[in-house]
Amino acid sequence: MGWAMPRRNPYICPKCGTKADKPIKTWQLIAPIPDARGRITITVMGSFQCSNCGYRWRGVVSKIKAGAEGVEIESTKGKRALGSEEKEEKRRGTIIEIDLSEEEEG
Ligand SMILES: [Zn+2]
Repeated sequence: MGWAMPRRNPYICPKCGTKADKPIKTWQLIAPIPDARGRITITVMGSFQCSNCGYRWRGVVSKIKAGAEGVEIESTKGKRALGSEEKEEKRRGTIIEIDLSEEEEG
């Protein structure tokens, strides 16, 4: 079993359906227990406010799975894996940066 979060676009206002440009703020939740493949799941949460109706909500912006095999990012656009040749660096504690503007639909 995984997260109980509904699978919807976190950028869409649940009240009126207006799409938010970007989260007001984001933060990361790091799962304390690795998954079956020894990967740590980092969930990137976002806090949004609707420019139309002012409603505030929170949603999962993306999930990052980081392990010895590399890093996998799961977001509204689907999954993508980062190059596994970087894994040595990741293991040494490289900070993973996420460009949120990349996640927007055109
Ligand atoms: Zn709204």
